[in-house]
Amino acid sequence: MSGAILVLSGPSGCGKSSLVNQILQERDDIYFSISTTTRPMREGEAEGVNYYYISKEQFEAEIEEGLFLEWAEVHGNCYGTSLKPVREALDAGKLVIFDIDVQGHAIVKEKFGEILTSLFITTPDAQTLQDRLIKRATDPHEVIAHRIKNSQEEMARLDEYDYLLINDDFEESLKKFRAVVETALLKIDTKRKALFINKWYNLKNS
Ligand code: 5GP
Repeated sequence: MSGAILVLSGPSGCGKSSLVNQILQERDDIYFSISTTTRPMREGEAEGVNYYYISKEQFEAEIEEGLFLEWAEVHGNCYGTSLKPVREALDAGKLVIFDIDVQGHAIVKEKFGEILTSLFITTPDAQTLQDRLIKRATDPHEVIAHRIKNSQEEMARLDEYDYLLINDDFEESLKKFRAVVETALLKIDTKRKALFINKWYNLKNS
């Protein structure tokens, strides 16, 4: 494995997807991990682009088969990351970006901590988040209320993350996000450091 991992977390509606979509257009050394979910498809989403949408029964079967690197229940729906494509992307030396919740981050960190960078993205305050979710109008009122309530619990785990990005102005945030992506690519594990040291001191004539 020669790639690295960047985990993004933060309340939904904070703008993670827009930042990821932009960076995916700019670079080809990034693999975005598309999660599997039991939540219904939103307007504007597509199968295999935003998520793989499956039933609760199928999701449970995939858990049984051990196909997930991690999975969690978020806002009453199940979300999971498939292990195989992530391994393949890491082997190909890519930066694998995950958009997962705080529970998922804790699990991935335990398994891949040495090559993992984490970024928590959020709005300047809860009011801005609520305004954005209402404006986005992709969820019914009670779902929005549930998401706002949950965001408080997510925010409480901010301390587990390396970096914080307060997404107020998109262009400004994009600049900062690009910097985090560059930094995340520099993260290497002990094995790769040892290999590099071995290779480095190789003089032609001395
Ligand atoms: P949404 O329904 O708004 O797309 O996502 C809701 C939440 O689920 C977000 O916080 C998102 O980061 C999280 N999420 C999406 N995919 C996964 C996943 O595969 N694993 C985990 N643990 N969380 C996920």
